Amino acid sequence: KAKQIGRNGFALFSSELREKAEQRILLLKDMRFALAQNQFEMHFQPIVSMHTRQITKAEALIRWQHPNKGMISPDQFIPLAEETQLIHQLGEFAFDQAVEVLQKTRSLNSQLQLSINVSPIQFSAKHTTLLAWQNQLTKHQLTPDMLVLEITEGLMMQGEGRSQKRLTKLIQQGFAIALDDFGTGYSSLAYLKQMDTEFIKIDKRFVDGIEINEDDLVLCETMILMAHQLGLKVIAEGIETATQHELLKQAGCDFGQGYFYSKPLPKEAFISYLEHGNA
Ligand code: C2E
Ligand code: MG
Ligand code: MG
Ligand code: MG
Repeated sequence: KAKQIGRNGFALFSSELREKAEQRILLLKDMRFALAQNQFEMHFQPIVSMHTRQITKAEALIRWQHPNKGMISPDQFIPLAEETQLIHQLGEFAFDQAVEVLQKTRSLNSQLQLSINVSPIQFSAKHTTLLAWQNQLTKHQLTPDMLVLEITEGLMMQGEGRSQKRLTKLIQQGFAIALDDFGTGYSSLAYLKQMDTEFIKIDKRFVDGIEINEDDLVLCETMILMAHQLGLKVIAEGIETATQHELLKQAGCDFGQGYFYSKPLPKEAFISYLEHGNA
């Protein structure tokens, strides 16, 4: 009997694994097709100055408009893209779209800074595209300081310093760095010491609780204080209410991003949002 259960157990296990693997292969096939069919688009979420509520930045966020499955969230396909090198193509796409928006909005808002999320894999060996970015910007009469590269703390854990060297090079070229999802990783403080970052982004998880949870407010206040003493600016993510806005403003937070100001907007909608005045 035991043998029977064992065999069934194994059969179940392996069929689950097979199904998972098949799903991944399907998704991967879908993604390659999607790239060829231009199903990916970048949306842009305004980031405002806490004091003036003027849009000074925006974050570029990738979207997959699947013909049958509808809009697919990046959390569902970025990890797979990272495992399969497709991330390089998605990363180039994000960069190109950001450059296009910068070009189109120069006359509307010359101070606008766009941020793009950069995956650690994009810093991996043999891919030198990151280093070609400056040339592309120059070609369009743009400068690296108009772009902020959002990175997560995990980046420095990989690549035995190689990633860090590439990142340092980009900083030297003038790209600004924002430490994304700050406070959720395990190396945030060590990282701040090592890297010449310009911004930290306080994760939504801390912002969510500040109206009802004293601890969350204290954590936000402390992160802001520490960032300022280190000469960094703070962007709070996921602000959804007026009260959250007020509390963070009082705590000295520099910039805010969240549904309270605006959801991420399709490229054309974002451009016309800039044209027709700020929030
Ligand atoms: P992230 O960089 O931390 O981006 C912030 C996420 O919070 C976005 O989710 C944004 O839509 C969402 N958000 C902003 N304000 C609010 C709010 O007020 N309420 C709520 N509930 N959510 C809010 P999204 O667009 O689904 O992106 C998820 C993650 O996927 C991003 O987290 C980023 O890590 C990754 N990602 C997105 N686009 C790209 C990309 O082009 N390249 C790479 N490598 N990663 C990307
Ligand atoms: Mg981000
Ligand atoms: Mg984040
Ligand atoms: Mg994130």
